[in-house]
Amino acid sequence: MDKLYGMTEIEILKENLNNYGKLLEEIGGEVWELNISHPENIKDEDFIKYSFNYQTDMVLKFDEKIHEEDLCNLNKNLENFIKSDDDKIEFIYRQKEEKDKYKWVYSRGIKVFNEKGKLEKIIGIRSDITEKIIMKEAIFNLSHFDTLTNLSNKEKLKEDFSHVIKKNNKEDIAFLYIDIDDFRHVNNVLGYSFGDEFLKKFSDFLKQEFGKDNLIGRLNADEFLVIYKNYKDINSLEKMIEKFLKDLRKKNFLENSDFKLSASIGYSLFNINGKDFDTLLRYADTALHYSKSKGKSQFVRYSEKLGEYVFSQADMINQLRIAIERNEFIVYFQPIVCVKAEKISGYEALVRWIHPHRGMISPGQFIPIAEASGQMVEIEQIIIEECFKNLKLLIKLNPEMKYVSINLSARGMIERNIIKFLESLILKYDVDPKLIEFEVTESSLLNNIDRTVEILDKIKEMGFKLSLDDFGTGYSSLNYLKNLPFDKVKLDKSFIDNIETDERDHLMVKSIIELSHRLGLLVVGEGVETKNQRDLLYILECDFIQGFYYGRPEPIVN
Ligand code: C2E
Ligand code: CA
Ligand code: CA
Repeated sequence: MDKLYGMTEIEILKENLNNYGKLLEEIGGEVWELNISHPENIKDEDFIKYSFNYQTDMVLKFDEKIHEEDLCNLNKNLENFIKSDDDKIEFIYRQKEEKDKYKWVYSRGIKVFNEKGKLEKIIGIRSDITEKIIMKEAIFNLSHFDTLTNLSNKEKLKEDFSHVIKKNNKEDIAFLYIDIDDFRHVNNVLGYSFGDEFLKKFSDFLKQEFGKDNLIGRLNADEFLVIYKNYKDINSLEKMIEKFLKDLRKKNFLENSDFKLSASIGYSLFNINGKDFDTLLRYADTALHYSKSKGKSQFVRYSEKLGEYVFSQADMINQLRIAIERNEFIVYFQPIVCVKAEKISGYEALVRWIHPHRGMISPGQFIPIAEASGQMVEIEQIIIEECFKNLKLLIKLNPEMKYVSINLSARGMIERNIIKFLESLILKYDVDPKLIEFEVTESSLLNNIDRTVEILDKIKEMGFKLSLDDFGTGYSSLNYLKNLPFDKVKLDKSFIDNIETDERDHLMVKSIIELSHRLGLLVVGEGVETKNQRDLLYILECDFIQGFYYGRPEPIVN
């Protein structure tokens, strides 16, 4: 207070201004002023340019430094603001700092009028928001670009495609759906880090081959889309695709090695096959599927006939090969309920094949074929890994659940060192084996019994639980079970179906439950659909129930 005594009004004002200046500096702002004092005889439009560009030093500097792409907009905004009744304005522009380096500026201003009510100037503050913009760009990039390859993702491709057709919807555009052949093996044989490295190199290769003018993106793991613009005619387009496939086959992606790869392509045409992104993508994918079923390093153009194609058994094996490569399988989980507590105790994992054009295919349709062709082992491994991966999420969704039960076939047990595979999964996903149960069927025990028992013992030793699936449909007796390391038996649905009406089935179920309990085994009743069936099993002291009565198999929804 003392300091103010004896100060003139001007000095106090200066002092105040000084303080406000410091404050602005502190918060990173700058004051600007735009004078609108002007000769009366100049036309409106001229005066705005005139005053904005030349009237004050400040504006002059300000102007010179503004990015040319922003200058026109800025002038227009100011012009409108001056003419309007608005009293506030805000704008964002880029301002030059050094050569080719710009900062982002956020500016706000208000009008100042003289005593006659005439607009005299605009004053405002501006601040540097470069950091915020960079962050926003980074977020945009994250949601629009694939972080591994830096290519666009599907959303960005879709957006860019809409701009392309807005400009000229007569353009000749082709959607090339590109999929690397046998990429799963690259990962399996050479490891995931090489897989990633390879995908980056492959992306560069795509850019090099298809040039800057076309849109290139990655759809998922090893699937890419090139939106090829301005092709001359089908002939030259196909020549170009052929050249790409040939160049790829020759390309060496690994130094000092003759490791080579190929890709398959399906393509669809804008205007001819469809006009919107999703349709063109789907058709290109259909064509890709057929291309893959013909073999590797091929390409196919979409036609309506492909869409009507019906699968034959031989083709199913081909389709399964593609499905394994592209991982078209998902896991559904069906609750297994503790009868006494009436609470979910665990889930059985059941595979579903989501074919891109035929929709969901149930295990009954493809497992027999996959088993006969030897493909089931690979599918099973995909499902087992999927269960390990999802276990924590399942527990999060239902903290009371105690296990996931996974089906294991006879070949799945014996082929491909299952023990090593499980050991690696325990480490990879940090999973307690107590939380996983394996279901094997009676019939799977009949072949190669010694080897099977040896493996079952090891699985049990590792801490996993075991249950005997479809009990009652095979030939084994409970006595035989005594020597095997099972924790549970699953009573087949065929007994449960008639438990209310068929006295013999009722008696069978009753004695199986009693005997199992005497052998220290728990019992799961499968395929329970009605309350009556549930009540009967409750009376017979069945431990667990699985069936549509409590819940159907469903995918996890996070
Ligand atoms: P499963 O192991 O006996 O599995 C139970 C089957 O019964 C499932 O059929 C399930 O959806 C069905 N189910 C459950 N409750 C009811 C009910 O109340 N009523 C009726 N009508 N059905 C019910 P899904 O999923 O079609 O599986 C069929 C078979 O395919 C399975 O029989 C299993 O043997 C095999 N399977 C499924 N997923 C896998 C897998 O990941 N690996 C292996 N190796 N086999 C699998
Ligand atoms: Ca089962
Ligand atoms: Ca079963």
